[in-house]
Amino acid sequence: MKAKLLLHTCCGPCVIYVIEQLSRDFEVTVYYFNPNIHPRKEFLARKNEIQKYLDKNNIEFIEGEYDTANWFDKTKGLEHEPEKGKRCDVCFGIRLRGTIQKAKELGYDAWATSLSISPHKNYQKISDIGKQLEEEYGIDFVDRDWKKQEGYKIACSMSREEGFYRQNYCGCIHSRRD
Ligand code: SF4
Repeated sequence: MKAKLLLHTCCGPCVIYVIEQLSRDFEVTVYYFNPNIHPRKEFLARKNEIQKYLDKNNIEFIEGEYDTANWFDKTKGLEHEPEKGKRCDVCFGIRLRGTIQKAKELGYDAWATSLSISPHKNYQKISDIGKQLEEEYGIDFVDRDWKKQEGYKIACSMSREEGFYRQNYCGCIHSRRD
């Protein structure tokens, strides 16, 4: 029997390739925990897209709380940071901590995130936060830079084949403005 892994993701185009890779070794459940995504309509559009794909492929899905108040509170003062700056580090921290807490609560063996597939995100930061949380909670973090070995290119082509909606900003109100 495969070990159970909780995979955090923010959208369909990012997760499709990562699921394919992780499913070789794990029984994957997708966790959609993204209180950063603004507005709610966009949050729902990305969620619905993922859910449709997972339903079709019999993959389990869990929706996290849309706790925007906490996200805005924690990122206060960082509104004008550029993408890949300090606001993104805090945003990664919120979502990754939320994921490992859910993994702990539900008894998963491991956890991961698809965030590192994006060339717009700082892999090293994601990796550092993941490893720190792994130590804190004692649940294995599958630490990979998914964009490597053509991962990003393959993910884009898989997403095109699937006909996924592709957003043109990262997710938060500030990235939408910029
Ligand atoms: S740009 Fe993206 S990663 Fe950075 S804070 Fe906004 S939603 Fe989070």
